[in-house]
Amino acid sequence: MSDSNTPYELKNIHLPSNAVWHKCTVSPQERAQLLGQVPRCIWLTGLSGSGKSTIANALDATLHEAGIKSFLLDGDNVRHGLNKDLGMTETDRAENIRRIGEVAKLMVDAGLIVICAFISPYKRDRQMVRSMFHHGQFVEAYLETPLSVCEERDPKGLYKKARAGVIKQFTGISDPYETPENAEIVIDTSRDSVTDSVKRILQVLSQ
Ligand code: ADP
Repeated sequence: MSDSNTPYELKNIHLPSNAVWHKCTVSPQERAQLLGQVPRCIWLTGLSGSGKSTIANALDATLHEAGIKSFLLDGDNVRHGLNKDLGMTETDRAENIRRIGEVAKLMVDAGLIVICAFISPYKRDRQMVRSMFHHGQFVEAYLETPLSVCEERDPKGLYKKARAGVIKQFTGISDPYETPENAEIVIDTSRDSVTDSVKRILQVLSQ
């Protein structure tokens, strides 16, 4: 059995003194081998309305149809359950992303292709999630769709509320979005179609 599933947490987080990591008998590599696929975390980041959920769902459906085991973690859905106790302050956003990263990591260790669609506006939070994974397991896709296009789309009417001051701390309006500098994939959905965007991500996954 491989010992490469040594947890990164042991290095980065203070564990309660009586919590001792129990190494699983079946390694992540063996789980992936059983499923016959290379597990990855695809992390879609960008402004609200940039197309994260749309592309994430199209990618998930394409993988599913091809018989590839995937799972989708989507921003709003996670805030209905796992993270319903968190708000939109910088601290809560960081905790939101940390928990999602942990869940994604568990799913990758289980052998899945995990697609994460989260605004994740802060560089250090995205970097924290990236550092949870082995090299090459984390693929960042930055949706650089311009704010003006996102605001014009306003699929959930959130920009309107943010401009009216009804929603505070809204990314792009009253809260910052820190642009990724080293994303593996950059997509502008004001130019790139959903089909082309999915193709680009699949190309990177097949490398
Ligand atoms: P986000 O998850 O980033 O908030 P959504 O996917 O919920 O964004 O919304 C994006 C909106 O833009 C949807 O209404 C979608 O139909 C529309 N849209 C138009 N063109 C594209 C495209 N090329 N890629 C993705 N979404 C697009």
